[in-house]
Amino acid sequence: MSDLRYDPIFGQWAVIAEKRNSRPVEFQQFSQRRAGIDCPFCKGNESVTPPAIEEWSASRPHQEENPDWTVRILPNKFPALDESLSVVGPDLPDQQAASFTSGKLATQSPAMPYQEVIVLSPRHVVSLSGLNDEELSTSFAVLQARLNFHKKRSDIAHVCLFMNCRPLAGASIEHSHFQLIASPICTQQVYDRIARMRQTSADQAETVWQNRLAWEARQGERILCETARFLVFCPFASRHSNQIRIAPKSDLPFAELAASSRNELAQLCRQWIDGIERCLDDPAYNLIFHLPPCHDMNAPWFVDLVPRFPQSAGFELATECWVNPVAPETAAEQFRNFAKSR
Ligand SMILES: [Zn+2]
Repeated sequence: MSDLRYDPIFGQWAVIAEKRNSRPVEFQQFSQRRAGIDCPFCKGNESVTPPAIEEWSASRPHQEENPDWTVRILPNKFPALDESLSVVGPDLPDQQAASFTSGKLATQSPAMPYQEVIVLSPRHVVSLSGLNDEELSTSFAVLQARLNFHKKRSDIAHVCLFMNCRPLAGASIEHSHFQLIASPICTQQVYDRIARMRQTSADQAETVWQNRLAWEARQGERILCETARFLVFCPFASRHSNQIRIAPKSDLPFAELAASSRNELAQLCRQWIDGIERCLDDPAYNLIFHLPPCHDMNAPWFVDLVPRFPQSAGFELATECWVNPVAPETAAEQFRNFAKSR
């Protein structure tokens, strides 16, 4: 059996086709870390990286030099967006065109980097699930503080926060780290997603986003857990197998979350990353903050946890309709059973 399901948040289709899981596979994907690597993010190797932008411990930045850091913020040594960035091409979308004068970006002086790496532990920890409580709470305090710093920049339209864990998810360094990209443009996909989330139902009682969360909560079969502040579920039209969404129930932006809510979000991320790793044999994953543009931070946001398996093929590239071989109901049941057994 297969279903075609529409996602009104991303405006995209997914085919849920569990039969695909029994396809024969003749190939093996193999990715192993090279031997003898001295990790640049481990404590003691600070001289290998560019000087830190900030170092934090106990959820606060250090005022003076202190070798006992918990979280370290570095400029990205190999950024996609560097200081020489300019906008080329004649056909800028209307929403972006106003930000640029004849292709030049309105840069701040002195030039600030667009990309940062946030090292989540002084220990060689591979996944966010391996962070201890202090590392976890400090990491999320840093994510919030760096977002708040960059969103005030006049040259920045959107801040993207994400984590790539293991090579199939795009990680090139094994040591657990987040990436921050403060971009002078906000893509049309982000603007469109926010517009779709804010559309109201026929009776104007709620937005599409509120309606979707309430509907998932009522249906229940894809819910992993619900707290006073967050709903954790496998979205109905998941494009990726075993995808998990963590959505805040309040309208408060991530940038303004109190420490208690921020810590709860951090713990939910750790708990369900641990869940996918134990259920699915340590897959690569991306943890993605879907944040609104900087000028509109009160718009809804959420976090997606996407385990990565080789998936996109010709059909997905041709149509942007994704084939997902694991029904989100099946994934949710497996994750709930795992949580019960713990
Ligand atoms: Zn390391």
